[in-house]
Amino acid sequence: MAVQDKLYQDDPVRRLRLCNRYLFTGRLVMETALHIGGGKLTLSGSRNPIVLTPENIPFIPGSSFKGALRSTVEKLVATLAELPQPRLSTCGLIELESKQLEQLEQEGRLDDICPTVRQRTITEERRQQGELALGDILGKLCHTCRLFGSPFSASRVNVSDLYIPEEEWNGIIQLRDGVAIERDSERAKDRLKYDYEVVPASTSFNLEITLENATDEDRWLLSLGLSEFVNGFGAIGGKRSRGLGACRLRDLRVYILELEKEETADGGQREVSAGERTRRLQRYLLGRSPEEKFHRVEDGESFLARQIEQLFQAN
Ligand SMILES: [Zn+2]
Repeated sequence: MAVQDKLYQDDPVRRLRLCNRYLFTGRLVMETALHIGGGKLTLSGSRNPIVLTPENIPFIPGSSFKGALRSTVEKLVATLAELPQPRLSTCGLIELESKQLEQLEQEGRLDDICPTVRQRTITEERRQQGELALGDILGKLCHTCRLFGSPFSASRVNVSDLYIPEEEWNGIIQLRDGVAIERDSERAKDRLKYDYEVVPASTSFNLEITLENATDEDRWLLSLGLSEFVNGFGAIGGKRSRGLGACRLRDLRVYILELEKEETADGGQREVSAGERTRRLQRYLLGRSPEEKFHRVEDGESFLARQIEQLFQAN
């Protein structure tokens, strides 16, 4: 368990303390059209409207981007788990079946499993043994559940809703024809054409992500996911099998506030002195822009590269 996680468990007040905060900003540019459904019916009359702000401008709910980021990260971590010394774990949010759970219980390995995917057995244990200490459960969560949240713990990462920069919105929402395909015959069903709204390719959205009280593992995970988006392998929204939702993250910057530990130039870590901590906090609380608030700003791509290099150092 990371030292920081251990400290949080032992001291409930410490859990409230701010150790560090990272702000990631960038522009998510659509390379193909985007469909995020669930909007209210609009003038287009489409039965598959996209989500819009109260001003009728398309946006991407922060939760949609966070979900896409999480599943991107989970796929990578599942692959990294094959390395000789895996340093990251994920449960992939895949609930285990009763059979698998019984088998693990017989082998005495139930404690190795992330509590998120064995909620049923935890409920059972609680019923039998009374309240299980939350600290015990938190200590067993996989790394992706710790970062992105689980039924047992809040997320350490927050994604704001993504809006189109005001001057860029040209007011065009496209309507696309879809054809329903019959699975067995693979033929188009008669009269089963339907349409759906999309935001056109090349639309861009402002992205803002905050990460708070991050451990090394949290930074590595988030960097893995964001680097996929920077390199154009990210996707968001619905109808991805039709090629929709391909996007690229541009102009990524990272604003850093470290109040306890910080990286040194040679890649090591050192404690932030009490005097320095006071100066940084004051600056943070009084500053009016990210540049004023945070004591360090970094180019996003070099930040991501450094994190990923660190992750591989043990392998
Ligand atoms: Zn998990």
